[in-house]
Amino acid sequence: MASATGHLPPVECAGMRICVFCGSSTGRSRQYVSAARTVGHQLARRGVGLVYGGAQVGIMGVLANAALDAGGEVIGVIPAHLVDREIAHTGLSDLHVVSSMHERKARMAGIADAFLALPGGAGTLEELFEVWTWAQLGLHDKPIALLDVVGFFQPLLAAIDHMVAEEFLPGAYRDMLVVASDIDDILDRFAVYRPPESKWRAATAPPRP
Ligand code: AMP
Repeated sequence: MASATGHLPPVECAGMRICVFCGSSTGRSRQYVSAARTVGHQLARRGVGLVYGGAQVGIMGVLANAALDAGGEVIGVIPAHLVDREIAHTGLSDLHVVSSMHERKARMAGIADAFLALPGGAGTLEELFEVWTWAQLGLHDKPIALLDVVGFFQPLLAAIDHMVAEEFLPGAYRDMLVVASDIDDILDRFAVYRPPESKWRAATAPPRP
C-alpha cells in the first residue's frame, strides 16, 4: 500500500546479509565517504547484516562504523597478513581471520545473500568481477549491485556495454547487475531479484519448438 507521501513502503529485506566491496581508500570526493556512511546506516536500519573485508581503513572503515553506530551486525573477513599490519577493525560483531585472500572471498561469498560494490579500486573490481563471473556460470544466484555514487561507475558500465556490443558478453548478464545511486532502491530490488538463466543451464536447455 502506498504511504501518505505517495511512495511505496520499502520492501522487506530484514535478515539478509549483504557483502559490500569498497575502497580501502576514502577517495577524492567527500561524497564517497558520505555515501558509505549512508549505506552503513541504512543496512542497520533495515535489519540487514553487513559482511565486508574487515578493515578499518578507507570507506571500508567508514561503512563498518556507520553500521555499528546504528546498531547493525557487521561481520569482517580478513586474511591474517592484514591483521598483522593492524589494518583489521577490532570492534566488529564478528571478525573471521582466514589464511589467504582467496579464502576470504570464498568465506564472504558463502556468508552473504547478495553483493554490493561501492566506489573503490582494483581490489573492489576484482571482488565484484569474481562474484559476477560466478553468477554467470550458475555457481550462485545471489543478486549483485553497484552503488553509482556521483556517476563513479559510468566509465565501467560503458566498458561493459562495449563488451555486449562486441558480443563478448550476453546482454542478460549485463542486466543482472543492479545499478542505482540510492541504497534503498538497491535493497528493494534485491528483495525481489530473480536470476537469469546461467550460461550452462541456457546452453544445455532443450531447443525451443
Ligand atoms: P581497493 O578497492 O583496491 O581499495 O580494495 C578494497 C577491496 O579489496 C576491499 O573490498 C577488500 O576486501 C580488499 N582490500 C584491498 N586492500 C585492502 C586492505 N588494505 N585492507 C583490507 N582489505 C583490503
